[in-house]
Amino acid sequence: MTSLSRKLEDFRWEEVPLLAYKQEGNTFRDITRQTLFEGEPALPCQWRYFEIASGGHSSLERHEHLHVVMIIRGRGQAMVADRVLDLNTFDMLRIGALTWHQFRATRGEPLGFLCLVNIQRDRPQLPDPAALARLRSNPLIADFLRV
Ligand code: MN
Repeated sequence: MTSLSRKLEDFRWEEVPLLAYKQEGNTFRDITRQTLFEGEPALPCQWRYFEIASGGHSSLERHEHLHVVMIIRGRGQAMVADRVLDLNTFDMLRIGALTWHQFRATRGEPLGFLCLVNIQRDRPQLPDPAALARLRSNPLIADFLRV
């Protein structure tokens, strides 16, 4: 089957609902999710668009599954492993297995990105107090993180 979903205004697509980032939790702020491609047996991955409003952030998490991310709106920053990265439109980022990561819209504008994942994937892990303390031992990261 072939289908076309045309872009509407402002990073919305035809017949793609605007959803909450996650069904549960309070480890994130001002972020929405749209699933552009749900995946199917011949292409078992999902293609999502996340948008973080200015000042918002995603969860600090890690998991076995990989992310490939491309920024398509605005600018912001991400903590990945032990680094804080500046992100600009059309930058592409691969986040490896079990790598702590968090995205933040820190530049006074939204940060919107496509994120490719396997359909079959493990649930994200959140940091326990010991993991959080290890991450925060780097002052740059301690200053960046929002939990
Ligand atoms: Mn993730």
